[in-house]
Amino acid sequence: MLTFNNRTALITGAGRGIGKAIAETLARHGVTVICVSKSADSCGATAAAITAAGGKARALAVDVADGGAVAQAAETVLKEFPVIDILVNNAGITRDGLLFRMSEADWDDVIATNLTSCFHWTKPLGRPMTRARWGRIVNITSVSGVMGNAGQANYSAAKAGMIGLTKTLAREFAARNVTVNAVAPGFIRTDMTTEFVNNAEVAAKVLEAVPLKRFGEAADIASMVAFLCSEQAGYITGQVFNVDGGMAM
Ligand code: NAP
Repeated sequence: MLTFNNRTALITGAGRGIGKAIAETLARHGVTVICVSKSADSCGATAAAITAAGGKARALAVDVADGGAVAQAAETVLKEFPVIDILVNNAGITRDGLLFRMSEADWDDVIATNLTSCFHWTKPLGRPMTRARWGRIVNITSVSGVMGNAGQANYSAAKAGMIGLTKTLAREFAARNVTVNAVAPGFIRTDMTTEFVNNAEVAAKVLEAVPLKRFGEAADIASMVAFLCSEQAGYITGQVFNVDGGMAM
């Protein structure tokens, strides 16, 4: 049984897929969840579903790649909740292509959305968290950031950057009892992967690299994140947890 002591969490990319599963799982444990996504409709739908199920949730539409917008959103959130105890940096995009065909815009968008967004959120929310001397930060990276992946130079670089950020902040925040960890999903069945999950030929090829021979579900990632955010995980920091069916051994 995991314990959470009525904490408050902010989860980016909570409108769909993995982020939505994380928000729903934390809410089931009594955590008040602030669901962030780019479109108001998608975070609104997640927050409404959580509230309808008896949980406590808010929706917040903000483009995490826009530093000014994140600063403003964080200020608004901190007016209502003086401390956000749990931050899950999960929002992410892909713009795949081999390096010679990759545009600078695709490089910049992926770095800004996946990596720089973590910097934008952690600065304002990390300060009250460290003052409170209790906190959990979980960054959702990827097997691509751990192993590299042809066609994903931008995404692999962003996700590997998140791992470096995780380990550094774990060291910076440790004295304040704030843990910082990363979770690296493999191939998870979400909107991000529908293109190859639903193509039998491509799916079979992809699964050759997965020892457990199946795609993961968003709930597989949410369980690991919930554990890392609980009281029980207080002695774990600076780690990367691969939840990938055994891909990155
Ligand atoms: P998804 O189904 O495509 O959902 C992405 C979520 O991120 C959406 O809620 C989206 O908002 C939000 N988002 C994207 N760009 C944003 C922006 N600029 N500002 C605010 N929100 C933004 O993705 P997913 O598969 O759940 O992936 C979640 C995380 O896991 C990502 O970081 C991804 O890189 C990582 N990951 C996924 C897999 C996988 O196989 N699925 C594998 C490894 C790592 P809207 O709903 O408003 O569009």
